[in-house]
Amino acid sequence: MADRTIKANSCHAPRGGRAMDLSNGHRIGIIGGGPAGALTAYYLLHLSQRVGLHLEVDIYEPKSFIAAGASGCNHCGGVISETLIQMLALEGIIFPPGILQSTIDSYTLHTESGAVRIQAPLQEMRIATIFRGGGPRIPLIPGAPAILSFDHFLLQRACAIGARHIPEKVVEIRREGDRPQVVGKSGTATTYDFLVGATGIMGSATTLLEKGVAGYRPPVKGSSYVCEFYLGPDVVEERIGHDMHIFFLNIPGIQHASIMPKGAIVTVCLVGDAVDKAMVDHFLAHPEVTKCFPVAWVRPPDKDSCACTPKISLGSASMLFGHRVAFTGDCGVTRLYKDGIGAAYRTARACATTLVFWGISPAVLERYFQPVCAAIAADNRLGRWVFHLFELFRTQRFLNRAVLAVTRWEQGRPPEQRLMSMTLWDVFSGSATYRLIFKRLFLNPVFLVRFAGAVLLALMVELGVGPWAFWRKMRR
Ligand SMILES: Cc1cc2nc3c(=O)[nH]c(=O)nc-3n(C[C@H](O)[C@H](O)[C@H](O)COP(=O)(O)OP(=O)(O)OC[C@H]3O[C@@H](n4cnc5c(N)ncnc54)[C@H](O)[C@@H]3O)c2cc1C
Repeated sequence: MADRTIKANSCHAPRGGRAMDLSNGHRIGIIGGGPAGALTAYYLLHLSQRVGLHLEVDIYEPKSFIAAGASGCNHCGGVISETLIQMLALEGIIFPPGILQSTIDSYTLHTESGAVRIQAPLQEMRIATIFRGGGPRIPLIPGAPAILSFDHFLLQRACAIGARHIPEKVVEIRREGDRPQVVGKSGTATTYDFLVGATGIMGSATTLLEKGVAGYRPPVKGSSYVCEFYLGPDVVEERIGHDMHIFFLNIPGIQHASIMPKGAIVTVCLVGDAVDKAMVDHFLAHPEVTKCFPVAWVRPPDKDSCACTPKISLGSASMLFGHRVAFTGDCGVTRLYKDGIGAAYRTARACATTLVFWGISPAVLERYFQPVCAAIAADNRLGRWVFHLFELFRTQRFLNRAVLAVTRWEQGRPPEQRLMSMTLWDVFSGSATYRLIFKRLFLNPVFLVRFAGAVLLALMVELGVGPWAFWRKMRR
């Protein structure tokens, strides 16, 4: 067995000679060319070339990401963190102009009790917005800058270092001997030494995996709504600015709502248990939301706006790898309510590193790939508690007043004292773990005392009593 003291991501890790190592000419099939599939291919080739290993990597992806509208899009809010952009850049993936639409360095928190604007507490907490496909299917003014697709760029980057893009949908996964075989829509069957499922969870993607891989069950899915409106660059600048707008509104069924700028366009993103048209109408008519649109703005008819209702992954699949198969991105495990592209990056990189440096056996996948996925799943469990807490902040007016008061007070303080601001930023957009957020909130006595004070004051305002009357009320 290999020397286990060498780190899995070291290019000096021993390989070769074991029955389940990859060797020259081995073929890897990847189903799905979204971020998880493209990045798995990229890292497989990038790392294998560094150790002189020649692999053949095929990516099956039927979508043309340069197409406008739903057909070219992998439906998402389109927010990525500065940290992810920098990590990709360090590994040779540098985004050309036109991919990153707007840089966001502040956000506005809208609650039932008012709004507050918050500057990103630290430089590395900036985020950027992207379009996954060729842009929304809405009439743009002539001469508007071209929109470049994030997913298209990643797929092209993987192809540039040797991946082969097969523009076909996989309709069946089966076995030939002990090797996986995929059947494309054209009927062509190809056998691989290893198969990576990176299909995401939309449409029939997970049914394909369930039928073809014994024991695979997809993650639990939630519902969401994404729509994009063309407002023009000046209106976006004036109404939305360079802020991500986060809404803590008491609209039943909507857990998480945000509006973000993308050049001349704004994206509205709602996540909840069963987001329906009535909830969307309720949200768009809320006074805190209408502030983000021009006065007298009329929502365009459905045919002139680009909207979709994608499923969102809320957990992890029943298995993350097996015999000659592994799952990266959403169809394996992703982060709860945020940073899905970051999770696709982490799982793709961990999977590729394991295959190239340690081999393809379930034992090495368990040792080197599984911990990365398990860390994401464990963090999501804490994330659920964080969201329960935020659910209270969102629905109880006195609590959202307290959050607002503490957040307002923190502005102008040094970054390390802006704990509520950092927490809000990280819960909704940042790449920080939920564990860190939890620790930051609950292991800081100064913050807890400050917040408890704000809650008491907000409660007094809510009850319309002064401190003594409040004290007497509480004692009764
Ligand atoms: C409403 C919403 C908002 C979100 N906002 C954000 C955000 O702001 N930031 C963020 O980081 N994440 C966000 N996410 C999560 C993010 O979209 C996903 O985590 C990310 O897309 C996962 O990438 P993936 O490659 O695993 O899957 P996908 O992006 O879904 O890609 C899967 C690919 O597989 C292809 N495919 C499927 N089946 C087959 C088949 N049979 N044969 C061949 N190809 C196939 C599909 O065509 C697709 O291109 C959001 C998600 C939702 C639903």
